Amino acid sequence: MKFLCVDCDRQMSFEERAVPGDGTMAAVFRCPACGRKTAMLANPMETQLVSSLGVKVGGRTVPEANLEGIRTGVASGRDEAFEAPPPTRPPTVRWSVDAVERLGHVPSFVRGMVKKIYTEYARERGIEEMTPAVMDSARTDLGLEGM
Ligand SMILES: [Zn+2]
Repeated sequence: MKFLCVDCDRQMSFEERAVPGDGTMAAVFRCPACGRKTAMLANPMETQLVSSLGVKVGGRTVPEANLEGIRTGVASGRDEAFEAPPPTRPPTVRWSVDAVERLGHVPSFVRGMVKKIYTEYARERGIEEMTPAVMDSARTDLGLEGM
């Protein structure tokens, strides 16, 4: 895949690439002669297609298994389906026995999401251990009554 500047008849060079994490991809190419920029946007399906063809954008292959992860997550309702991918993960929050017990009362299909919300809440405040008390304040602060 190449982008050409029509005016200059030059191949545009890769400038910037962004993978927002929702499976989409954006890439910016720039004409070395006139500086004109063009951007390519790909939806998750196109991104996956590009990835499966082994096309490299900006010297790196598009991360694989984006759709794969979503699919298995939806099918099995895994708790970690809503967790962030490992490389960008901030320090973990420990869950106390009581907190885990209480999380167990949350319906399994939303448990992963609820756990993530609580975990993010704790991380943002530098709280290292999740306890029922932290869950209480998170509920109040975030308006999560019933979780
Ligand atoms: Zn040009």
